[in-house]
Amino acid sequence: MRTQEHIPVRLQDYRPYPFSISHVSLVFDLHPTRTIVTSRLIIDRKPHEWAKGEALQLDGVGLDLLSVEINGQPVAAQDYHLGEDGLTLKSVPDSFKLETKVAINPAANTALSGLYMSAGRFCTQCEAEGFRHITFWPDRPDVMSRFHVRVEAPEADFPSLLSNGNRVAIGQYDDGRHWAAWDDPHLKPSYLFALVAGGFDTLEDQFTTRSGRTVDLCIYVDKGAASRAIYAMDALKRSMTWDEEVFGREYDLDMFNIVAVSDFNFGAMENKGLNIFNSALLLADETTATDADYEAIEAVVAHEYFHNWSGNRVTCRDWFQLSLKEGFTVFRDQEFSADQRSRAVKRIKDVKALRARQFPEDSGPLAHPVRPKSYVKIDNFYTATIYEKGAEIIRVLQTLVGRDAFLEGANLYFDENDGTAATIEDWLHAMRTATGNQLHGIERWYDQAGTPCLEAISDYDAATQKLTIRFQQSTPDTPGQSSKSWVPLPISMAFFGPDGAPLQLRLAETDIAADDWLIPMASTSLELQFEGVADRPVVSYMRGFSAPVRLITNHSDADLALLAACDTDPFVRWESTQTIARNTLLSVAQSLAAGREPDVRQDLARAFQGALADAARDPAFTALLLRLPDVSELMQLQPLCDPSNLLAARAFVRSLLAEQLDAELSACFAIYDPAQAFSASAQAAGQRALMAACLDLLCASGTDRAAMRAENTFFAARNMTDMMTALDGLSQFGGARYHAALAAFKQRFTDNALVMDKWFRVQAMALCEDPLQTFKNLRVDPSFTLLNPNRVRALGGAFASGNPAAFHRVDGTGYQAIADLIADVDSTNGALAARLGTVFESCSRVNEPRQKLAKRTLQVLLDRNSLSANTREILSKIYDGLIA
Ligand SMILES: [Zn+2]
Repeated sequence: MRTQEHIPVRLQDYRPYPFSISHVSLVFDLHPTRTIVTSRLIIDRKPHEWAKGEALQLDGVGLDLLSVEINGQPVAAQDYHLGEDGLTLKSVPDSFKLETKVAINPAANTALSGLYMSAGRFCTQCEAEGFRHITFWPDRPDVMSRFHVRVEAPEADFPSLLSNGNRVAIGQYDDGRHWAAWDDPHLKPSYLFALVAGGFDTLEDQFTTRSGRTVDLCIYVDKGAASRAIYAMDALKRSMTWDEEVFGREYDLDMFNIVAVSDFNFGAMENKGLNIFNSALLLADETTATDADYEAIEAVVAHEYFHNWSGNRVTCRDWFQLSLKEGFTVFRDQEFSADQRSRAVKRIKDVKALRARQFPEDSGPLAHPVRPKSYVKIDNFYTATIYEKGAEIIRVLQTLVGRDAFLEGANLYFDENDGTAATIEDWLHAMRTATGNQLHGIERWYDQAGTPCLEAISDYDAATQKLTIRFQQSTPDTPGQSSKSWVPLPISMAFFGPDGAPLQLRLAETDIAADDWLIPMASTSLELQFEGVADRPVVSYMRGFSAPVRLITNHSDADLALLAACDTDPFVRWESTQTIARNTLLSVAQSLAAGREPDVRQDLARAFQGALADAARDPAFTALLLRLPDVSELMQLQPLCDPSNLLAARAFVRSLLAEQLDAELSACFAIYDPAQAFSASAQAAGQRALMAACLDLLCASGTDRAAMRAENTFFAARNMTDMMTALDGLSQFGGARYHAALAAFKQRFTDNALVMDKWFRVQAMALCEDPLQTFKNLRVDPSFTLLNPNRVRALGGAFASGNPAAFHRVDGTGYQAIADLIADVDSTNGALAARLGTVFESCSRVNEPRQKLAKRTLQVLLDRNSLSANTREILSKIYDGLIA
């Protein structure tokens, strides 16, 4: 049974807005519980036949309308309609000025969408549909306007008054209030509007663009935190330089401001000239942030900055085109990070993230195309598919046309669409025009959900000295979509001889010979034949992960071992090691389930040994090699699985490796000096990552010696990365050592909310003791709060996705615990609850008794009339995909 079905928005129903609004002037008289917003719009009916006679419809939710005037004359109540979703004026002139005045209550806004209070400051989040909670306006991305904003507030409480664009005037009143006026010369849609008011410390700097414009840069942070923004400022300046050098894009205002806030639904937001960040993705120093935090800050600062062109100067026509800005911008930030750090390591981490988040989404009940056809709440579509798969499509495109042609295409796209709201067709049109490549079938990447599967079967005939490779691609059915066609796949390949040396092969009946091959596959199947092949070669497929597919090959264990040891492409070396590990883990799981003693092949230990022997060359890469696939990844490979069986298999293999490789791991661990001076460089982070990977495996031995190593590492740690490495290690044991370390950690960092999130996360993901009981204890810890999204994710999200065996407990109590949390969060913040609800998506992969329990748990939630539309949309899709 379902109640309150919400009507979906459909791509096919898109209609242009009948009016243009050239200018908007907003005045904010700020007050925590009664802010008055006055809006003056200059409106013209579009000169098209279809616009004639259209009513003026403005979105607006939860606004207390005080007055409405046209050309200075009050509009009579019978001449407008005020509904729950907005304001309609039935007959309006072709050109006029509209003024509305509304009152809103920012202090009561716990959904954190629109104008709200965070730590006593005013702050906004308008993407996707937050602006309608601020004033009446056509809240859609294709209505772009020039914004002039005046902000007024008491100076003592709100010394900084910020909005988009350039600050053009400031002033004081006699009563202690002051004001600032902001003008944004660039057209923008309402979702890019921002306003911040409050007291901050600042970190200031300057940047000179290639054409000589001086830009004032400023980061606004909590009192006392300015030194923790130094890394973000450095990342910002590097991003500005990079976008000039690589994409030829300069910054276009006199100032660029970033504000860090602690209560934020997302990671960060690219509002024009005034980026707003979740403080978790901005503040860092060695004692409070891990290397992963530094990496994320660098990437997100770059991402939001890059949006200034891919998103702001060229925005999206409608929300179905969301990946036009997000996929492209993720690609741009991935390339930036690859240039700043190790390209190979970055690529592997991106593929790991894609497989951990996007692949399961694309094969489960929430699967949707990169350009969806419909949605109920657009907030629910800020997904791994839109972002990460979207970025992979851009990469596929770049690989197909080549880097230089791709950059020319991007350039043309920016130039042709500057100042407009574009579509994916506009993007592809620019690419086709600039490159001359017709990119046949590329639209299917946007329109078909599901991860394509690529089968590659090689066959060597010693008698004729011929190698034949047969490729076959298919994309599985997903909810609401079946019988899919091929997608264009760039297949990057190389060949290795029995001694591991690269081989040059010649394509049959041609003179084409090469070491490295790029085959654009534009069909369902493809056969390649190579002649004059003296020895059976091992084929290295999808080098650099040249397309986001699931690859199936007929590689033998020996082939994989050879690629793991010898491939010149670091991605394939890592991938081959992972494939050996996946095969080993699944076969051990099978044995354990059948009550047999597992027979573990030596390939994995040998691959790890080889990696450790070569560790000095690239520690960060070795660290990645030493990490086994986690339970969530194994769950994707085994339909109707028992997560506790997979967890047991993983523990079995890890303890075996710890025992077999004790000498090598100990030696590698011992090289690390915890007392050395800290550097945030990729190289230094790589050494810490290698130490962490060694300690993690050593702890799997369960020995007292390993526990003492972790304990010593914890108390010797001089930086947060080493401290978390040690805590993770101790969490494998539980007991007195672990709890003493947790207590010391809490005592030291109790006043730092971001670090306390780590304290929650490490415990929520710990496998020791009784994870569900730990979760329940943390839920009632005095420092847990439902009102801070970071804290909710650090406990609920971390437990459900990082502790799958406990979440999927066979008695259903793990599901119940998370369902209770979702219900509580939903009453104040539906968008956050919906996102937390996506963890139930993994239930579609567990065995029948578990699925039934999950379905029953979701049923109870869905029966609540008060459930938000956001959460209902997510949970009902998951519910429909579960076994009854
Ligand atoms: Zn973005």
